[in-house]
Amino acid sequence: MPTKRIRRRASAAAIAGLGLLVGGLATVTASPAEAASSVSGTVSTGGLVLNVRKAAKTAAKRVGTLQEGAKVSIVCQAKGNRVTGTVRTTDLWDRLSDGGYVSDAYIKRPATKLPVCDPPKPSPSRSTEGAAGPAWVLPVSAAMNSAFRTPQRPTHNGMDLAAAKETPVRAAHSGVVMRVLCQVSIGTCDTDGGLTVSGCGWFAEIRDADGVTTRYCHLLRRPSVVPGQTVTAGDLIGQVGSSGHSTGPHLHFEVHTAFPATVENAVDPFLFLKAKGVPVR
Ligand SMILES: [Zn+2]
Repeated sequence: MPTKRIRRRASAAAIAGLGLLVGGLATVTASPAEAASSVSGTVSTGGLVLNVRKAAKTAAKRVGTLQEGAKVSIVCQAKGNRVTGTVRTTDLWDRLSDGGYVSDAYIKRPATKLPVCDPPKPSPSRSTEGAAGPAWVLPVSAAMNSAFRTPQRPTHNGMDLAAAKETPVRAAHSGVVMRVLCQVSIGTCDTDGGLTVSGCGWFAEIRDADGVTTRYCHLLRRPSVVPGQTVTAGDLIGQVGSSGHSTGPHLHFEVHTAFPATVENAVDPFLFLKAKGVPVR
């Protein structure tokens, strides 16, 4: 029964220029209702980046971003918080084919009635995992060789992960690069430091939507990211080195509960990552 009807609907949509065409027809068998009613839209923000959220509200976790002019495929709409955008004012949010949500206030699309999304099912999976992968990862795959604030090093405000020079250093979480700096008391960050040198050497800081800030110290060379850049957990940000106050190649990694990172808001990275489900050892 459904085949004939769907064909008719799909071809009607194709005539209406809704961008379904072959793609829509090809997926009809798998999910007729969804494929026949998905609609193409265009991100229109006036030049700003549009955040993709895990749920239909601005407070939901950001799972990605879309640039002005990006094409999206809208599967259904859900009611969320009201947003005044460049296209319209609405409390509707568009669920995209990849599962993320964007406010319909910033989407140019045909005036088509879209289906209402099913209410989200409570997720049995760990809260650290979103649609886009794990929320937190270990920045360097290595065992910890020096811990946070030990009796021997009470002012050591991070954890050390020893690894060979050039080992990739990855963003532990998704966020925005806040600072990229060379910090040494003497000399340069482009050579190995030592015990007589103070400072973090080449380092980067990343802040996420919750304000949690991570710091990556003693990098080999200027980090490959720049301030203002958005990164996703696991993205390459630099290489393990020994710049600054360091006696051998390792990553000194700090977690702070707020930005700017201070001694007061530093927390134990080992315990923090463990609580996020990251396999630290
Ligand atoms: Zn350290």
